[in-house]
Amino acid sequence: MIKSKVAVVKCQSYDEKLVLEAVTRGVDLLGGTGAFVKPGEKIVLKPNVLIGSDPDKAVTTHPSLFKSVGLLFQKAGAVIQYGDSPSFGSCESNMRRSGLKQVGDEAGFQVADFDHGREISHPKALLVKKFTLANGVLDSDGVFSLPKLKTHGLTRFTGAVKNQFGCVPGFLKGQFHAKLADPHVFSTMLVDINTFIRPRLYVMDGIEGMEGNGPRNGISRHLGVLLLSKDPIALDAVACKLINLNPEFVPTSKPGEKSGLGTYHYENIDILGELIEPLIVKDFQVVRKAVPAASSGKVRTFIKNQITPRPVIDAAKCSACGTCIEMCPVGLTALDWKQLKTGKKIPRHHYNKCIRCYCCQELCPEGAITLQTPLLGRIFFRQ
Ligand code: SF4
Ligand code: SF4
Repeated sequence: MIKSKVAVVKCQSYDEKLVLEAVTRGVDLLGGTGAFVKPGEKIVLKPNVLIGSDPDKAVTTHPSLFKSVGLLFQKAGAVIQYGDSPSFGSCESNMRRSGLKQVGDEAGFQVADFDHGREISHPKALLVKKFTLANGVLDSDGVFSLPKLKTHGLTRFTGAVKNQFGCVPGFLKGQFHAKLADPHVFSTMLVDINTFIRPRLYVMDGIEGMEGNGPRNGISRHLGVLLLSKDPIALDAVACKLINLNPEFVPTSKPGEKSGLGTYHYENIDILGELIEPLIVKDFQVVRKAVPAASSGKVRTFIKNQITPRPVIDAAKCSACGTCIEMCPVGLTALDWKQLKTGKKIPRHHYNKCIRCYCCQELCPEGAITLQTPLLGRIFFRQ
């Protein structure tokens, strides 16, 4: 069996010269630019923009990494475009907020159309055989995925596989959350998106990762590495090793291997470049337990209400912006407004209706929503 290759390259800061050197070294370890592009091909870079944010907050793929990957392959003859579909707002406005548009303009990269899409058929998918994907992705010759290493409420960790969810335009992402509420089913859908798009190269920004209440409101944590691979399952497994997380706890790992997308078994992965052990951050704040298995009917409701973490609002931090209510895929039956005795209005969760997609926690701009495990869940998982 041919092993998957993951290049691990140290990079201690976002200094542009250092990042370009590190990206070049990582690509060389995987065979050089010629292994990924031919002159004249249109390549789309897919950073993780979530919802545009200051690069120093470690929410988004850093502009310095984005620029380095683009310039390296532009020099190899590729025409570079880029895009991401955020949860709300246009692709271009979020690119501007994250500093990528400014860098892209300077470097001659073009914004691709991630605001509109077309339906595609994917007969070999494990689960979802029809998708709408962004025109920018479908009109390109190839995609390079540039994920950010962060924690995530639904999938423990967001990395190479989950990054392609941003190739689904705008509000359609919410429909997937509503239809595929079970995290394992949702994760299988993420794998299906990847087996259709098949990005040619994944370059993970692990220079400053995010721990704790990710993917938007966690804490920046220095890891000082870039990870590069053609195999997103292997890349995510190596990222898990770095943050001391069992890759089996990430629900894309098993369907990813089953689909043929890649492998999460370390014996089938060649780690190139740095020795990984000295780089491991053992106390990285991430939930180290399996995502509860799928269930149905009363068992599912019991697990949801008594064991599965629930989103909880800190009234003191809430600015009553309404983003969580606007973005909840279930709607007002799961999350509506309530008036406090002080007269302040804040959102209120209805846990029986809430499907635990954690979009509200992910998108709250104030970090006012955290995930809290009910007592039984804490006993069950010894948290
Ligand atoms: S309340 Fe939050 S976690 Fe529950 S369904 Fe709505 S967005 Fe998802
Ligand atoms: S998104 Fe956050 S700050 Fe805005 S209303 Fe919801 S809880 Fe409050």
